Amino acid sequence: MYKINNSGWIEVITGPMYSGKSEELIRRIRRVKIAQKDVKVFKPIIDNRYSNDNVVSHSGDSIEAIPVDHPEELYDRLEEDTEVVAIDEIQFFSKDIIKIIEDLADQGMRVIVAGLDRDFRNEPFVPVPELLSRAEYIEKLHAICLQCGDPATRTQRLIDGEPAPYDDEVILVGATENYEARCRSCHEVKGKPEGDINE
Ligand code: ADP
Ligand code: ZN
Repeated sequence: MYKINNSGWIEVITGPMYSGKSEELIRRIRRVKIAQKDVKVFKPIIDNRYSNDNVVSHSGDSIEAIPVDHPEELYDRLEEDTEVVAIDEIQFFSKDIIKIIEDLADQGMRVIVAGLDRDFRNEPFVPVPELLSRAEYIEKLHAICLQCGDPATRTQRLIDGEPAPYDDEVILVGATENYEARCRSCHEVKGKPEGDINE
């Protein structure tokens, strides 16, 4: 992807947990740094799974990031020569992040975001669906299903080894749940209403 006519754009890297979203984001950021462009990397403060000021992948790779609480804080951290903005765990931001991302791209920046397309219930994870429709480039990654070895497109939440119920909170902080990647046929949600689409 190359910069044309000073116009910015939006890239979305998405998929379930363990699909390599953070790895791919880190790879793109490293290449921007090799090109000696100024890149600012952000992550929401809610995501403190491994470390507060790094984007960290499940394979242990990491890169420095600025933790932010509210989407507007991004503006305070940009500099005159910032050309690229990268944001991990985009699903943990409110919908307000959408207009900021559009604005940065309108200003000529390359904005790369990574995040879950769906939550543990297999429902679209706001604000990612809208970002997917607004992005110039989308990469949808797959993990490996821990049950059957097929490509995994979904995130299974487990509580004491059992599939979590549908009416669980979407975002749990500091809870004892854990997650694994699963395919369409192995993914389970206890008490999920009939049919896969929530009208
Ligand atoms: P994401 O950001 O999508 O959660 P990461 O980039 O953090 O993904 O981690 C991807 C890495 O996780 C893989 O390269 C692999 O080393 C590891 N991994 C662990 N479990 C799985 C799995 N079930 N499927 C694929 N990769 C897995
Ligand atoms: Zn499976």
